[in-house]
Amino acid sequence: MKKRRRFVVNGCVQGVGFRPAVFRHAESCAIAGFVSNTPLGVIIEAEGEEEALAEFSQRITGSPPSQAIISSCITEELLATGETGFSIRSSERSGDLLAGMPADIATCSQCMAELFDSSDRRFKYPFLNCTDCGPRFTIIRELPYDRERTSMHSFGMCPACQREYADPRDRRFDAQPNACAVCGPGLTLLNSSGDKIQTDDPVVETKRLLEQGVIVAIKGLGGYHLCCSAHNSSALNTLRQRKNRPHKAFAVMFSSLEQIRDYCRVSSIEEKELVSPARPIVVLALLAFSKLPVLVSPDTHDVGAFLPYTPLHHLLLEKSLPLVMTSCNRSEEPIVATEEALVPFLGTIADYALIHNRPIVRRCDDSVVAYSGEKRVVLRRSRGFVPYPIVLLKEGPPILACGADQKNTFCMTRGDKAYLSQYIGDMVEYTSHLFYGESVNDLMKLLGIDPAIVACDMHPDYHSTRYAHALGKRSVVPVQHHHAHIASCMAENRIQGPVIGIAFDGTGFGTDGSIWGGEFLVVDLKGFRRVGRLKQYPMPGGEEAVMHPVRMALSVLKTEGLEVEKLSGRMSEKEMGLLFSLMEKGINSPLTSSAGRLFDAVSAFLGFCDTASYEGQAAVRLQANARGQTGEPFAYDLYSTGDLLELSLGPAIREIVAGETAASVCAVRFHETMAQAATAMCVQLREQEKIGHVVLSGGVFQNALLLERTISALLAKGFVVYFHSLVSPNDSGIALGQAVVALANSIY
Ligand code: ZN
Ligand code: ZN
Ligand code: FE
Repeated sequence: MKKRRRFVVNGCVQGVGFRPAVFRHAESCAIAGFVSNTPLGVIIEAEGEEEALAEFSQRITGSPPSQAIISSCITEELLATGETGFSIRSSERSGDLLAGMPADIATCSQCMAELFDSSDRRFKYPFLNCTDCGPRFTIIRELPYDRERTSMHSFGMCPACQREYADPRDRRFDAQPNACAVCGPGLTLLNSSGDKIQTDDPVVETKRLLEQGVIVAIKGLGGYHLCCSAHNSSALNTLRQRKNRPHKAFAVMFSSLEQIRDYCRVSSIEEKELVSPARPIVVLALLAFSKLPVLVSPDTHDVGAFLPYTPLHHLLLEKSLPLVMTSCNRSEEPIVATEEALVPFLGTIADYALIHNRPIVRRCDDSVVAYSGEKRVVLRRSRGFVPYPIVLLKEGPPILACGADQKNTFCMTRGDKAYLSQYIGDMVEYTSHLFYGESVNDLMKLLGIDPAIVACDMHPDYHSTRYAHALGKRSVVPVQHHHAHIASCMAENRIQGPVIGIAFDGTGFGTDGSIWGGEFLVVDLKGFRRVGRLKQYPMPGGEEAVMHPVRMALSVLKTEGLEVEKLSGRMSEKEMGLLFSLMEKGINSPLTSSAGRLFDAVSAFLGFCDTASYEGQAAVRLQANARGQTGEPFAYDLYSTGDLLELSLGPAIREIVAGETAASVCAVRFHETMAQAATAMCVQLREQEKIGHVVLSGGVFQNALLLERTISALLAKGFVVYFHSLVSPNDSGIALGQAVVALANSIY
C-alpha cells in the first residue's frame, strides 16, 4: 500500500545543493514524486511504501548537504497518485529571493581531492567547484541564482561540464559556477607594466616570484590581496613601506592546519573556526619562539591566520611557506576588485599581478574572528557570513539602518530577518561613499524592498547620517551610538531588556553634545537612560588625539593634578604648551568619557605608544604587554554626580604615575581595575534599577583580556552577562542595533 507525504523544509536549504541531495535519497529509497524550491521553503512530495517513506524522511533531515541548515520540516499526509519516478522541478521565482543566495563557500574536500589528483580532468584547475562549495555572493549579479545571472555567464560550458550540470546524480548538478580548464576562467600573470608574462603555468611562476621576495597582487574571491612571503623580512618591510602601514598586523595564509600548528597555539574551538566553510581569519597566539618575523604583527604576540579557501589559494600554498595576504587597497579605501582599479597599484605597490577573467560582482573582504577563551569575538563579519541573516525576535516593516562612519556595514530588515551588509569600511574617501551607495542599492534590489523607515547615527556629520536624510524617506530615526551598540548585542542574543548596558567604546556622539564612550545605560529596544559613565577628560586638539595617545596622557595627568613633567621629552615643549593652553581655555578640547581614550592615556603614559599609526594601537600594545602578567586591581572611585553615577580611574592613574610598578604589571592591573570598577558600578546599578542582566558592547571589548576579566568579575557577582558572537562589538555591528531600535519604535 503506497502512501504520499508532503514535506515543507525551511532553513538554509536553497542554493546549497539540497534538491539534488533529496533526489539522490529518493532514488536510493525507491521514492516517487518531486522536489521544488518555493517561497515557502523547499517542498517535497514523496510517494512510496511506508517503510521507504520513513527511511527517506530520516535521510533528508539526517543527512542534508554540508552547507544546508534545516530549521523546520513540516509533514502532511496526501492521497497517493500512482506517480512514478522522481523529478527536480524548476524553482518558483517569487518571494524572498535572498533565501536562495548563499555566502561564498570554501573548497570542499571532494573538490580538493580532484584538485590534487593527476588523473582527474580538473587536476590543478584553479577554479573548480561543486554544489557544496565555490563562489556565490561575490559572483551573483541578480537573483534567482542561475548561471546566466552570475559572472560565469560568459563562460559556455563544455560538453563534459554540461553533462555534470544537467545530471541530478552528479555532484555538480545545477552547480552554477561549474567549470573546467577547457571552458572556464583562466589565470594571467602580469608584470609591473601590466604586460602579460608568457608562462605555461602562472601559478608555478607566481610561487617562484614570491620565493624571490616580490609583492604580487592576487585576485581572490571578493577582491585583490597583496601577497608576499611571510618569512621574507625585506619583502615585509617593502610592503609595509609601500602600503604606508608601519605596524598594523598582516593576515597570514597557511597551507594547512598542521602548518599553522608549527607557528601558533590552536584550541579545538579555534580549529573548528579555521576549517569552517566561511574560512575566516582567526586571531591565534603565536608559539613562544615564533618562526615568523616580528614584522608580520609587530604590536602583538598574535597572528591573524587563515586557510586557503579557493582552489587557487590551495595551489599557491601547496608545499609553500606561509604567505602574507592583506587586502589590496589604500588605507580608508575599499578593497580593489577590478583590473581597472588595480592599475595604479602595479609598479607602485605590487611588482606583479596574478589576475583572472571571472569578474567579481560584489566586493567582500575577509572576515576576522578571535576567541577570548571559549567566547567568540567577531572582529569583521564579511566573506563567508554575508548575506546570511540574523533572525530577530519579531517581524516588522522593512528598515534600512545606515550604520556608523567607521568600519561601516549597513543593515536591512525584511520580516523577522536582519541582513547585515559586507564590510564597507571607513567612510572617509569618496570611493567608500560610492561603494556604500552601490551596496545599499544592491541589497535593496536583492531583497526586493524599498524601506520607508531609515535609521542612522545621531552624529550630524556622519556621511551615513547625511545619506539617510538624503533618501527622503517617510521616517528617519536617529539612534544614539551606544544605544545602538547595546541593542545590536541584545538583538543577536534575542533579548528585549531592560538590561544594564556597558558600552566601552572609542567615540560616539552623545545626547548632550559631548563625546561618549564609557557609558552605563539602562536599555530596552525602544529607548535608553544613561545612568553612569566614566569620568570625563578633555581631548586636547579634538579628534586628532585619537591618533596621538600621548595627548590623552597629558590630559589625564593635568586633570588629575599630576606632574605633566613626567611626559617631558615625549612631545615638544611647544606642543605641550599649546595643548595645555587649549585645555585651560576650553578651546578645541571636547570632554570625553571614552574608555578607548582612557586606555590610550594609560598606554601612552607607560611608554607603549605616543603616536598611533592605526586606531586602537595604544590599547593593542597595552593588552600585548599585559600578557603573562598578573596583579591585583588598582584603586578607583565610584560616586554620584548630578543624576549620574561616575567612575573615576584617577586613583589608578596616581598609582601608575607613582612609578613603583613595572609597566607590564601596570598593564595587566589596569585591565583588572577596569573590569572590577565596571562591575562595582553594575552592583550599585542593580540596587538602584533592580536589573541583574548586563550586556557588553563597544569596540573596546575587542580587547580579549578586558572582556574575559569583565565577564568573570560580573559572573562572580551573580549577574547574567550577554556578549556578541555573531556580529562585531565594534562599529561594524552598530547597524543591527539601529535597525532593531527603529523596529521597536515603528507603529504597525
Ligand atoms: Zn566542491
Ligand atoms: Zn568544462
Ligand atoms: Fe562605537
